[in-house]
Amino acid sequence: SEIPNSNEESDLDVEGARSGVELLCVVKAVLKKIKRKVLVGDRVVVGSIDWVDRRGMIENVFQRKSEMLDPPIANVDHLLVFFSLEQPRLEAFSLTRFLVEAESTGIPLTLALNKLELAEEETVEEWKARLRSWGYEPLFCSVETNHGLDTLEFTLRDQTTVIVGPSGVGKSSLINALRSNHGRVPDPMEGDSWFEPILGNKWFEEQRVGEVSSRSGRGKHTTRHVSLLPLSGGGYLADTPGFNQPSLLKVTKHSLAQAFPEIQRMIDAHGPANCAFNNCLHIGEPGCIVKGDWERYPYYLQLLDEIKIREEFQ
Ligand code: GDP
Ligand code: ZN
Repeated sequence: SEIPNSNEESDLDVEGARSGVELLCVVKAVLKKIKRKVLVGDRVVVGSIDWVDRRGMIENVFQRKSEMLDPPIANVDHLLVFFSLEQPRLEAFSLTRFLVEAESTGIPLTLALNKLELAEEETVEEWKARLRSWGYEPLFCSVETNHGLDTLEFTLRDQTTVIVGPSGVGKSSLINALRSNHGRVPDPMEGDSWFEPILGNKWFEEQRVGEVSSRSGRGKHTTRHVSLLPLSGGGYLADTPGFNQPSLLKVTKHSLAQAFPEIQRMIDAHGPANCAFNNCLHIGEPGCIVKGDWERYPYYLQLLDEIKIREEFQ
């Protein structure tokens, strides 16, 4: 499969920042000429608006707060690591891989555990204690019973969040439960997709600054589709099918330790003169302050080996 590295040839849906109106936009030729790529999540200036056909042209792109490459989304400010307690059962190493990948972006993350109603109370308590020892306070929820969804919605409000996790845990179900259908009417020409109704001319100023919300299905063959869905509680959630295997490609053997809160905690507790200044990999070097007496140390070593092998062959 190919990763779309630019949206040059496809139309983009742009959602009005305040009005929520959607316009299908092309990118102005001059932006392509100077190689300004437009990513999902970009805030853009739209002109040449045709209100009847709901079309426009992206004329400029605002400076990005952040840029994620895999999936390619601009202005992401939050990651939601989403797993289920059961079906599939929560598994510590798999969760660790996702957490390491998420931590390595430097973007704040929330861990949520779904299918709460399927888990024994004792199991939940065990995970709570275990995850606390790793350095995480997870949210527990059930998309099935709605338990915890208010809290989750509150955590996501006014942010652009990318959801990551293995398949089958309930990511699509969560997105469907939280996404906004406010003011939307189905467009019979578009099958199942939803469009904002045009409500008059009150957005003539407001809608000029919008946010690229998705790659339109009408664009040329997009093998890896990324879209940003507006949430009813405010904010956006990025749906990223096909991006759910953590590659750890941006993690180096020296940055891996930063993705483990346990190691950071030991280093912080030890004060300034510690092994971290020595390019220490915390594998029993003389003077290393990171001992091996914590649950995920074997996972740290396993991932370190994996990364070392990859770096040798690069
Ligand atoms: P995804 O692969 O992560 O997008 O997972 P889906 O949203 O497709 O969900 C996988 C299955 O889990 C579906 O059959 C959902 O109905 C089911 N599911 C989602 N959330 C819950 C939950 O909280 N409890 C239970 N029992 N099933 C759930
Ligand atoms: Zn060390």
